[in-house]
Amino acid sequence: MDGPNTVEPGEQEKVFFEPDALLLPDPDSEEGLKIVWGDGVLCHNDRIEQIGPRDTIEEAKNARTVRLRDRILVPGTINAHNHSFQSLLRGVADDRPFLVWRDEALYRYAPHLGKEGVYTGALLAFAEMARMGVTTVCDFFYVHGEGIETDLAVVQAARDVGIRLVLARTFYDWDGAPECFQESPDEAERAFRELHTMFSSAADVSVLPAPHSPHGASAEMIQRGAGIASELDLPWHLHLAEELFEVDEIREHSGTTPVGYLQQIECLNGNLCIVHGVYLPDEDIAALGEVGAGVLHCPSSNMFLGDGAAPLRTMLAKGMRGALGSDGGCSNNRVSVFEEMRMAALLQKVIATDGGAFDAPTAFRLGTEGGADLCGVDAGQIAVGRLADFVSLDLADLSLQPDVHLLRNIVYALQPTAIREVFVGAKPVVQNGGLTRIREQDVRARVVSTAKRIGLQAV
Ligand SMILES: [Zn+2]
Repeated sequence: MDGPNTVEPGEQEKVFFEPDALLLPDPDSEEGLKIVWGDGVLCHNDRIEQIGPRDTIEEAKNARTVRLRDRILVPGTINAHNHSFQSLLRGVADDRPFLVWRDEALYRYAPHLGKEGVYTGALLAFAEMARMGVTTVCDFFYVHGEGIETDLAVVQAARDVGIRLVLARTFYDWDGAPECFQESPDEAERAFRELHTMFSSAADVSVLPAPHSPHGASAEMIQRGAGIASELDLPWHLHLAEELFEVDEIREHSGTTPVGYLQQIECLNGNLCIVHGVYLPDEDIAALGEVGAGVLHCPSSNMFLGDGAAPLRTMLAKGMRGALGSDGGCSNNRVSVFEEMRMAALLQKVIATDGGAFDAPTAFRLGTEGGADLCGVDAGQIAVGRLADFVSLDLADLSLQPDVHLLRNIVYALQPTAIREVFVGAKPVVQNGGLTRIREQDVRARVVSTAKRIGLQAV
């Protein structure tokens, strides 16, 4: 492989990626994906320009070549729901009921993080994600004690690792939570607009509105977030019906179901992406499907916290769009989307008690093109015009043997040892299994020091 990119700003660069195989979209097949042997990918700056055999692409001759022997190049995975700072709280309150976990891990330590702690948590989360083949992460971020300073710390961490960031900037005003989560609707809107403007022309960072949930955000807060999303034509993210207590609360104060409540406050639309949706009645799923809303499905987190199993198969069948998330690093406790593909498929099979209830290609597409759709990024497929975000997998890795159905092996059998290179915008962030921009020992040193400063300990 060639060394790190040294292109000067303004200079045009073409790179020809030449792996043994490519995983490409295939709209004509039932699986929606196909493996092609012998083709390469020509990229111009951070986008894919042409795909095909080297001798059919004139410009490949003069392009810098990245030869990837014994590798298949697949689309980078998209972690559509995460709370990066929570990686710092991993192991603190495992094996506890949801409310104990929330109070003893999140609420106890979040007020002490500050900008430094938020940066360290995000650095740990993003560094580990890059190693696991995540090229875009959507960070649903709500620690706002210092205005937008902590948001900017998350952006810095993403840039230091080289991962693409979608900042789901949270609107939160429930006064039962730590003060550093809370803002007024005016404060939240002002901060959102400032960040959105700041990154409007950035290629590597985008910002979405994310009212926390019907329990963490008032009706006015949800309306602000939804209104801005409509105005700017952006997806907006909202936790909904993760736990049964939330459904009961909504029934108590509004006399209706979670989606009925969103209809009441005039916030149900096709830009909405709900997170979790474990406890939704059929009429709610039908209403979400009717407007083409999305679900950010986090199967490992739902299992880890004992939430339950979201009816993903029903949601997709009713017309909802889907994507996969790892959720926070202390409610999973892994940050791999390949892992979530496997878990999503297995969990649906368990619910249906039917091994044929879900398949590997569907799971793979949720973790790649589905994530791109619901996070509003132009990635998720190796296709002309899309962002050049790739993962290169070692075809010789034992976890991908035997090669009778490679895509199924990628979803069900792949181990991290197979993830060798990761490219974001055609630039390497992982090479030969190691991070290119920061050193892992430096990430660990920061984690050790922050954990000591905030007195982190397990309960
Ligand atoms: Zn969440």
